[in-house]
Amino acid sequence: FSDIVEEARLSARALLDYGEHFFNPTVRLGVTGLSRAGKTVFITALVHGLIRGGRFPVFEPLATGRIARARLEPQPDDAVPRFDYENHVRTLIEDRRWPNSTVDISELRLVIDYQRHNGADRTLTLDIVDYPGEWLLDLPLLNKTYEQWSAESLALSREGPRAQLATPWHTHLATLNAEARADEQAALTSARLFTEYLRACRDERFAMSLLPPGRFLMPGSLAGSPALTFAPLDVAADGTAPEGSLWAMMVRRYEAYKDVVVRPFFRDHFARLDRQIVLVDALAAFNSGPEALVDLEAALAGILDCFRIGRSTLFSSLFRPRIDRILFAATKADHLHQSSHDRLEAILRRTVAKAAERAEYAGAAIDVVALAAVRATREAQVQRGRDKLPSILGTPAADEVVGGETFDGNTEVATFPGDLPADPEELFKGEGAFRGLSSAPAEKTDFRFLRFRPPQLDSHAADGPILPHIRLDRALQFLIGDKLQ
Ligand code: GDP
Repeated sequence: FSDIVEEARLSARALLDYGEHFFNPTVRLGVTGLSRAGKTVFITALVHGLIRGGRFPVFEPLATGRIARARLEPQPDDAVPRFDYENHVRTLIEDRRWPNSTVDISELRLVIDYQRHNGADRTLTLDIVDYPGEWLLDLPLLNKTYEQWSAESLALSREGPRAQLATPWHTHLATLNAEARADEQAALTSARLFTEYLRACRDERFAMSLLPPGRFLMPGSLAGSPALTFAPLDVAADGTAPEGSLWAMMVRRYEAYKDVVVRPFFRDHFARLDRQIVLVDALAAFNSGPEALVDLEAALAGILDCFRIGRSTLFSSLFRPRIDRILFAATKADHLHQSSHDRLEAILRRTVAKAAERAEYAGAAIDVVALAAVRATREAQVQRGRDKLPSILGTPAADEVVGGETFDGNTEVATFPGDLPADPEELFKGEGAFRGLSSAPAEKTDFRFLRFRPPQLDSHAADGPILPHIRLDRALQFLIGDKLQ
């Protein structure tokens, strides 16, 4: 019965969405990526560029002057926080600091007045939905029982470098009897140790192929709630929990997590998106070691799988996710010399292609781009002995300490960005591992993870400064260019 009510509710909303779309063409653009991938910076730069009229030569409607103006309007969903655009712009431009990152879902509505190719005046409404990629990786849970999920999570936690990170949790797990009476303290401790293990995987390895549950790392408004108080137990994948046992309690909470967290996210947000950009901090992944590419590929396959799972899970065809374009973007390309931008793109393209093979089917047009939403560096040739080396110049953040050197936040330094191989296969074969930013050839300080401050801008421009970027316009052209014909 509840399915019928659910379906009726969804029908009503689908009709409303459809009606709104008919009179007022709307694109819902999802922006996602794991924590620190660059979502907040991307949305801020994109909206600023559209409102302010940024330098977007490859975004045809703007470059040819067909966009008359873009403005913010109140968003349609009252229950979703608003993306804090104005504050983020101020932080970025006036304070020259990076804004606070995404920790929850948020939304922003942008209305674009433009002229069609045939001269008619039109309006396109762009609803931007920012959500943690960790939540997306929860969707596969919808097709898994607690026992299947437990067995998979446990098997993975015993592999390679994860095993060491999982030791405290495994030690506690060994003391538990799944069939013994339900015990709240055991569940709490287990959930805490399991969450610490997930967090360590993320921090230590920049693990891209995170395992769900995503809210354990990005709880949003659910921090501390019982729906987040469960963990895998060492039980058979096809077993059945005895009544009243710890195991049965875990099953109930796992199912509650799916009911109160995963399904509502899927129904209220994911299933309503038209376009999706997935941001990937590929450089951080390459930097963290040779296994990272395998990890990245697994993560992308997982994400592509979510789009496929989305299509087969929902009640009827009316509510299938309608995403018809997915863009994978490697962010922070300003950490590389421009000669490497195409290479970064080629590696991402190769990784996505491999992931697409594994994920079988995503049912949408896919493209890739290497971009910097906000370009924090400039390029220069630096003389070293007889050689001129292509380098990048940027101002390390004031709190940066690298190799014992502390920066004051006002001094520009030149660094030599690592070289990416011209042939992506080299990376896949484990040859030519990438060593990101470095102070080579001196090799004294490890600049690989240097965080630069946002750029100093020309504040004399009449309508305020323009943010420099790399290939942000290409991303826009793919994501909404066809809707502005
Ligand atoms: P989120 O967690 O996905 O919202 O990530 P953010 O947008 O907050 O970005 C995380 C961090 O990455 C920022 O604080 C910046 O240090 C860095 N970052 C993001 N985008 C760029 C970019 O375009 N260029 C540079 N140089 N750094 C960036």
